[in-house]
Amino acid sequence: MSKKATVLQVAVPAPVYRTFDYLPPGNCKIDSLVPGMRLRIPFGRSRLVGILVSIENNSRVEPARLKKVIEVLDKEALLPADLLQLLHWVRHYYHCPPGECYAAALPVLLRKGEPAIAQGDKYWFLTPTGLETDAETLKRAPRQQALLNFLKHHSDAVNRALLDAHSPNWQNTMRELIKKGLAQTEERTRLTNIPANKKISGPELNEAQQAAVSSISSQHAHFQPYLLEGITGSGKTEVYLNIIQSFIERDEQALVLVPEIGLTPQLLERFHQRLQVPVAVLHSGLSDQERLAAWLMASTGQAPVVIGTRSAVFTPLKNPGIIIVDEEHDISLKQLDGFRYHARDVAVMRARQLDIPVVLGTATPSLESLYNARQNKYQHLTLPERAGTATHPELKVVDLRRVPMPDRISPTLAAEIEKRLTRREQVLLFLNRRGFAPTLICHDCGWTADCERCNTHMTLHKRKNKLRCHHCGAERPVPIQCPSCQAEDLQTLGQGTERIENALAERFPQARVLRIDRDSTRRKGSLQTMLDQVHADEVDILVGTQMLAKGHDFPNVTLVGILDMDQGLMSADFRASERMAQLLVQVAGRAGRAEKPGEVLIQTHYPDHPLLQTLLKHGYPAFADAALKERQDTGLPPCSAMTLLRAESVNEKEPMAFLSEARREAETLTGKDVFILGPVPAPMEKRAGRFRAQLLIQAEQRHQLQQLLANWVNSIKSLKSARKVRWSIDVDPMEMY
Ligand code: ADP
Ligand code: ZN
Ligand code: ZN
Repeated sequence: MSKKATVLQVAVPAPVYRTFDYLPPGNCKIDSLVPGMRLRIPFGRSRLVGILVSIENNSRVEPARLKKVIEVLDKEALLPADLLQLLHWVRHYYHCPPGECYAAALPVLLRKGEPAIAQGDKYWFLTPTGLETDAETLKRAPRQQALLNFLKHHSDAVNRALLDAHSPNWQNTMRELIKKGLAQTEERTRLTNIPANKKISGPELNEAQQAAVSSISSQHAHFQPYLLEGITGSGKTEVYLNIIQSFIERDEQALVLVPEIGLTPQLLERFHQRLQVPVAVLHSGLSDQERLAAWLMASTGQAPVVIGTRSAVFTPLKNPGIIIVDEEHDISLKQLDGFRYHARDVAVMRARQLDIPVVLGTATPSLESLYNARQNKYQHLTLPERAGTATHPELKVVDLRRVPMPDRISPTLAAEIEKRLTRREQVLLFLNRRGFAPTLICHDCGWTADCERCNTHMTLHKRKNKLRCHHCGAERPVPIQCPSCQAEDLQTLGQGTERIENALAERFPQARVLRIDRDSTRRKGSLQTMLDQVHADEVDILVGTQMLAKGHDFPNVTLVGILDMDQGLMSADFRASERMAQLLVQVAGRAGRAEKPGEVLIQTHYPDHPLLQTLLKHGYPAFADAALKERQDTGLPPCSAMTLLRAESVNEKEPMAFLSEARREAETLTGKDVFILGPVPAPMEKRAGRFRAQLLIQAEQRHQLQQLLANWVNSIKSLKSARKVRWSIDVDPMEMY
C-alpha cells in the first residue's frame, strides 16, 4: 500500500477487464471533481476519453508512477449518480470490460469528447398556403401529392429521419414543393420541437385495460415489476399511453424500450398525438447529432417521454417515473456480442435501484419472466381479449406428409390463397430463410456449396447470381459445373423467400407479390415504403421473414401461411420451441386485426408434435406452462443460471487449450454447487475463419454462479493461454452457437 494521495479511478474505452488509476491534472480543484465526469487521459501512446468512476485515497500503484489526467472535460457529472450505480451493477454482473459498459451510456459525440450541447437540426413543414392546398390539385405530380399529404399528416414539422422513412428520394420532391411556396425549411434545435397538432384522445379502455392502468399508476414511487401479458391487438400500447400520461402529470419521465423493428414512424406519431409532449427518440438510425440531441432532452428532463431500442436503457433521466419494456420476450433486447447485456434485465434492476415501477409487456412472455411471475417477483396482469371489434384468428395445421409440393405451397394453402385473391384480401406468407435456396448440391457426386471460412452451407441468391454465407458475409459466383466432379447437374436444395416469391409469381400471375426480408429492405427507408404499399392495398401476397412478425398491423390480411414450422420443432437449442411458439403467435397476430376475421395455416411434417398441439389447442399460456415444466425437469434456465465462456482463434487447438485451463481454475475455486460442462467445440465450430469453443457453467442459483465468476474472471485473464485467443464471458446466454 502506498502513501495517501488523490487517485482517480477511470473507465477507459478499451477491451480490458479493469479500470485505471490516474492523478488529477495539476491545476485542478479536487473538490470540483465528481464521478460521472469525462476526462481526457494519456493511454499508451494515445489520448482517450475516459469516465471518472470513483475518487480514492490510494492506489495499488505507487503514485509516483501514475500518469496525470490531461484535462477534465465536464463542469458537472455527465452521468448522474443513479446511472453510475446502475453501470456499476451491470459491470459486475455481466463481467464486461468497464470501459465498454460506461461507453454504452454515452452518445458517440460525447465519447469522442465533444461538448454536451445540441446543434441545430433541420426541419421541414408546410407554409400556410401549403396547409390550405388541396392535395388533389397535385394529382399530376403523384410524388409531390404524397409528400404534401405526408406533411399535412405531420403538421408539427418533420426531420430528415422521418422523411427518409417516408421515401428515399424525397429531397427533389421537397425542392419542388418549396419552389411552389407550399413547404419551407428551418433550422432549430430539437429541444423546442413540441408537436403542434391536435390532440387525439384514445378509445375508452375496457375493463382489463383499466385494471392494468390503475394497478400500475398507483405504484408510483415504488419498485414493482409487472408482467403485462396481452394477446396481439389487446391494447397494450393503449395501456402504456394511459400509464405514461399519469406519470407525465406528476412531472415524471417514462422510459420506453422497444425492439428495433417496432420503432416505426406510426408508433412515434401515436405517442406524439396522444401525449402532446416532446418525445426523445433513440435508435441506431440516428445521426450522431440527433442522438446527442435526444440524449440531452432525456437527461435534462425536457422530454417527458424517452423511447428507444436496447441501449436506451442506459439513458440518463432527470425525473424517472416508470420504465416500460415492450415485447419483453424479444431477443433483440439482448446484445449478442461485445458487451453482452440483456436490456430487459437491466431495466428491472434500474427500476429497483430507482424505486419505481417497471412494466414488461408482451403477447408471448419469455419463460424467464413467467417464472418470475410464478415466484411472485413480478405481478402478472393479463389482457385476455382483443380490443375493439377484432376477433381471434383461427389456427389450423396442414399435414405435409406425402403431399406433392414442388414449391412449399401445399394444395390446401394454395386454395386458400386463391380465395383471398378473389375476395381482394391480403395474404402473408412467412418463411424464416432469405435468399433463393439454402444451398446448391451436385446431383452426381453430392458436393454442396460450403463456406470456406465457416462450417455452413452458402445460400444461393439467384437475383444477384451469388452464393453468400449468412454467417461471415463471404460471397462467390455461382459455379456452372460441380467443382468436385465437373458434372453440370447442380441443383438447388430447399427454399428461401426469393424462391417462394418466384414460385408465387408463376402460380398466381395476376397477384401482386411483395417480398420483405433483410435483402429486399437494405436501402434506408425501403421497409417503410413497402409497408406503405401494403397499407395502400397495392400488394396481394406478402412473403417475408421474421421482420414481419412484430409491430406491424396489416388490417386487410386475412390469411397467414407458415410455410415451414419444422425447423423450430427440430432444433437442438433448448430455447428453439419457445422461440417457435412466440414467432407463430406473433405472426398469427398480424391477421384479422380489423373487422375481417383471420385464418392461420401452419405447414408441418409433425402435426402431432406435443408442444405444437398444446399451443394450438390451448394457446400460448398452456404451451408456456408445459415448456416451463420441461425446463424445470431438465434443470435448464430459467430454472437454473448459466454462463458461457467462449474462446476463438485462427488456430484450431488454442481455444480448447485455453478453456481446459480455465476449467481447472474454476474447479479450484468452486464446490459441488456449480456444474462445469466442456470445453466443447461450438455448434458452429468454424466461423469467419476462426475456430470456436465454449465452456458452460451452470448452477441452481444465480448467486452461486456470481460468486465463482468474480474470482474466476480475475484468474483467467492472467492465464498465458488467454493471450492466444479471443475470449468473452456471456452471462445468461440467449444463444448457444
Ligand atoms: P397491442 O399493443 O396490444 O397490439 P394496441 O394498443 O395497438 O394493441 O391496440 C390495437 C388496436 O385496438 C389499436 O387500433 C387500438 O387503437 C385499438 N384499441 C385499443 N384499446 C381499445 C379499446 N379499449 N377500445 C377500442 N379500441 C381499442
Ligand atoms: Zn459433383
Ligand atoms: Zn462463412
